[in-house]
Order: sequence, then C-alpha cells, then structure tokens
Amino acid sequence: MTERPIVADVRERGRAQVVIIGGGINGIATFRDLSLQGVDVVLIERNDFASGASAASSHMVHGGIRYLENGEFRLVHESVQERNDLLKTAPHYVKPLKTTVPIYSFFSGLLSAPMRFLFQKQGRPAERGAAVIKIGLTIYDLFASVGRSTPWHRFRGRTSSLRELPMLNPDVRFTATYFDASMHDPERLALDVLSDGLAANRSARALNYVEAVSRTDDGIVLRDRETGHEFAVACDVIVNASGPWTDLTNRALGAETRFMGGTKGSHIVLDNPALVDATGGREIFFEHSDGRIVLIYPLKDRAMVGTTDIQADPAQPARCTDDEVDYFLDLIGDVFPDVPVSRDEIVYRFSGIRPLPASDAEANGQISRDYRIEIDQANDGGAPRTPVVSLIGGKWTTFRALGETLSDVVLGMLRLPRVVRTRGRAIGGGRDFPTTHRAREVWLRSRMQGSGRRGQVLLDRYGTRAERVWDLIEEEHDDQLAGSALSTRELMWMVEREHVVHLDDVVLRRTDLAFTGAITAELLERIADALAPLLDWDAARCDAEVRRTTEILRDAHGVDFASIVGDPAERA
Ligand SMILES: Cc1cc2nc3c(=O)[nH]c(=O)nc-3n(C[C@H](O)[C@H](O)[C@H](O)COP(=O)(O)OP(=O)(O)OC[C@H]3O[C@@H](n4cnc5c(N)ncnc54)[C@H](O)[C@@H]3O)c2cc1C
Repeated sequence: MTERPIVADVRERGRAQVVIIGGGINGIATFRDLSLQGVDVVLIERNDFASGASAASSHMVHGGIRYLENGEFRLVHESVQERNDLLKTAPHYVKPLKTTVPIYSFFSGLLSAPMRFLFQKQGRPAERGAAVIKIGLTIYDLFASVGRSTPWHRFRGRTSSLRELPMLNPDVRFTATYFDASMHDPERLALDVLSDGLAANRSARALNYVEAVSRTDDGIVLRDRETGHEFAVACDVIVNASGPWTDLTNRALGAETRFMGGTKGSHIVLDNPALVDATGGREIFFEHSDGRIVLIYPLKDRAMVGTTDIQADPAQPARCTDDEVDYFLDLIGDVFPDVPVSRDEIVYRFSGIRPLPASDAEANGQISRDYRIEIDQANDGGAPRTPVVSLIGGKWTTFRALGETLSDVVLGMLRLPRVVRTRGRAIGGGRDFPTTHRAREVWLRSRMQGSGRRGQVLLDRYGTRAERVWDLIEEEHDDQLAGSALSTRELMWMVEREHVVHLDDVVLRRTDLAFTGAITAELLERIADALAPLLDWDAARCDAEVRRTTEILRDAHGVDFASIVGDPAERA
C-alpha cells in the first residue's frame, strides 16, 4: 500500500500547533473553528470521518426536552438555540421535524418528574402524563423563542388525535405536537463542516485512517492504518475528541483517566410503507412501557425505530442485537397495534456508544448529556510535555457551540485571540440553499439545466455544492451505477474532495445506499470497479474491498443481500 500524499505531507512537516484526535462531529467542529482562527491544526481519525458515535445518532437536532427531567437547563437552552441556528446554516441537511407525543394519562409523573428536574432526585421516571409534558413543552418553547422559525407546540384530545393519526393506539388520550429538527444525512453534514475547515486555512490538514498511538515529549505518534507506518508530529496542544474512546486514547497517550461511561443505543430501519404512512410524516416520540423514550421516525421513505440505552464497553464493537430488535418490534406494536410489521422488513441496523460521562445515576436515561473539558498539563514533575485537552460528552446538536468552547480553551493555551465566530455561519452546501419547492425548481433550472432526476439527487446530497459536482460530471462521459443514485463521475468527486479510502466510505457514509436497503452484492462490485481506476486498485484490491464491505454490512448492519427484494436502482 503506498502512502497517501496528504499523509506524506503531514509526516514531512512533522509539526503543527494543534493535533485533534477523533474525526467525529465534535473533533471536526473544533477543527473548523481552530482553522478559521488561523491555527495550524491537524485532525486525525483512525477510521473514516463520522464513523463512530456520529454515525449512530437518532438523526435528531433537538433540544432534548427529556433532559429537562434531569435538570439540564443549560444544555436544553443551548441545544434549542443551536437547532434554530442549524435550520438556517445547514438547511440542506437539517429540516424542521414535526414531532408527536402520544399520551395515555393526564396526571402520571406530575410529581416525580418536576421534583427530579427541580431537585435532582434520583429514581426511574413514572409514566409521563399530559400535565408534565405540557409543562416541559412550554419551557422548551420559551427557550426556543429567540431566532425560532418553527411553530409553538399544540395539544389535541383523543378524537382529534385519532383523526390526524388514525392508526395510533385507540387508548391514546391526548397527543402533543411540537417541532424539532431532523438531520437527514449526518455523515454528509460532518463532511461539509470538515471541508469548510479545510477551506478556511491553507495549513489545516485532516487525515482519516490515521490513529494516535502514543505520545512523545513534544507531541504525538501517529500510525497510518493503510501502510502501517508510524511517525511523530510535534505540537503545542493535543485535543482528545475521541468520543466514547476518550479514556482508551488517554491510556494510549500514557494517562489513566476515568472520564467516560458510555451507553449503547441501537436503531433499525424498516422498509414498511404502512408504518411510514401511519406516522403521518412526523416523528412519533413516546414513552415505552419501561419508561424509556423511544421513536419511530419516517426518513428517506423508510421507518427508523430506536433506541436503546444499555451500559457498554467501548473496547467492544457496538452491535444491534436480536433482543433489541424484539424490543423495537414490541414498541411499534404498542403505538400502532394494527400495522403489521415483520423482521424481514428490516433493511439496516446500526448501533453506537454515546460518549457520556462516568456516572452513578440509577437509570442510564439520567446520565448527564452535557459536555465538559479536562486539561492534563502532564508535567510529571519533570520537563513540561505537550498538554492534552480531553472532551467528555457532546451531542450532535451542539457541535458548533462545543467546537467554539473547546477552541476557546485551546486558543487560551496558545495565547491567541479569537478572530471569527461560527454562529450564523452557513455550512457547506447550505449556502444560498433553495428551501421551497419553487425555489428548488428555479435553482435547478438555472444552475443544472437538463440534469433531471439526477439534479434532484445531487441537490439533496450536496446542497448548493451540487452545481460544482454537476460541472465535474458534465466534463466527460458518465456512467450510471445505481439508477439516478450514483454515477462514475460523481465517484470522482467523492475521491478527489471527500477523502474516500475504502468502498464502505461510499456505501455507508457518502451515500444512503446501505441505510435505505438499496445495496446489493452486484452493486457493491459495480461501485468497486468504478472506484478502481480512481484509487489505483488492482483486481485483488477490488475483491478485498468488496469482501471488507460485505463483512461490515453483515456484522455491523445485519444486511443480508439475499433478503433484499427488488431492483436497487428503483429503490435508490
Ligand atoms: C444511539 C445514539 C443516538 C443518538 N442520537 C442523537 C440525536 O438524535 N441527536 C444528537 O444531537 N445526538 C445524538 N447522539 C449523540 C451523538 O451522536 C454523539 O454524542 C456525537 O456524535 C459524538 O461525537 P464525537 O465526535 O464526540 O464522537 P465520535 O463520533 O465517536 O468520534 C470520535 C472519533 O474518535 C475516533 N478515535 C478514537 N480513538 C482514536 C485514536 N486513538 N486515534 C484516532 N481516532 C480515534 C473514533 O474512531 C471516532 O470516529 C446519539 C448517540 C447515540 C449513540
């Protein structure tokens, strides 16, 4: 395997002001922020960008109304502000999400829930009744009132609720409907933030498939996982943003920390049009019989169902188990008893570990979702070594604010001023994005004349960057690979601009082919063949890539090609 030029460049320079470990959304957000301040920063990620916890989310950009129960007012306030901001700065991926909570009682939880959020009492939540949900939603709406672009919440009685959502369990007494936001393509949003960070500063570098393995007196040792070569990079500050693996990374760097206590959460994606219809196009967010808040969420013509919250060891891979699948099928049956659902309709499973702080909370749902920062000056009584700044926690929703906060800490250590703020700053293809149907039509006609269905796909996938992708596609002959979902020239864009190293980078994170169940063994081979000339793969490497992706799909996502029915091109 030959060394990638970008890796050679970082190795030869051998120095940066800051090295960030972890290319999840929080490492990427911090990278963008520091790069915008003119800092010479290198981001390293041992797998692909946004492939850890950042690839396992419920796709919600939300204030986390549930966190009010735990008294996390600061976090909820920040989250709704960030949600409002993202609806404007990243409208290509972040859209308003109508959310309905079915409620089966009036008073339940009335005493326990406010007691807990006011006085931090422990204990499992009692069922949340209408009165508690009303109080919570009112606080939530008030927090969101600055810069809000979505309507206030509404309550409905049984008759009106069932008129709106006729498949809902007829025992429902009320529904509460409010707005949060959905992230349709989190991994692509992360790539956009990354590419803005790279564009902001000529010295900034981002390397995937490069791992932090140890520390030197003046920096860090990295391993290129593609070649196996190790090299040292000297730096003034190391940022450990390795999410659930923060303690493990610190151990590799020679420091024993006990910051983390993550929990595993899984989701399934079902190809069940009746279930998608039953949701009425909105997220159904509700309390299951065990007190957990769960969701059924229509996304990309599929129904995503989640999630669990189970203590987990980050040293082990997180997998969605059959027991979790049973739990999901059970909760669907509770809320939509007359919608038939079968295991065969599951087209994709995914699972990840939340990077939560170590906690002695009685229930996993009560562990704080807020973030904090710890600095290890690591003098060891001898000569000062490069300090390590560890991030503990941090949701998807708050990545911008977190990136700014973490970056301020680093700027303080470097004695550098902040020169740019990121609030309100458009992200990637969210710049000048046409948000109405008519504006989309006009935009596509004026910028991507004749692109037809392909233009729609590219606009959804890249936002307004689609215009540049289309220019590249139009330059030479282009072959369709999966109907209008992917083409050979588009793969060239991904390889040149989006850090593609492996086949699974395309299938799992640059497109939604796997998520929607549109992938087949044959399509995998076609994409591998199309990537071969772009990445200099011979036949043996193509086979190895197909095997690798097939194994990841089977092991981590429960994808069994034989069970996928229909033409992938049509499904895509
Ligand atoms: C089931 C579930 C549902 C969720 N739902 C939501 C939601 O709806 N909304 C929301 O806002 N948040 C949600 N979250 C939380 C959110 O996804 C995470 O908090 C967030 O993505 C964390 O990002 P991160 O960058 O801190 O961590 P990660 O994305 O995990 O990134 C850390 C990275 O560090 C890398 N790494 C580790 N060790 C090394 C090393 N030695 N060298 C180099 N790289 C290394 C890893 O490979 C990883 O990619 C959910 C999380 C889960 C698990």
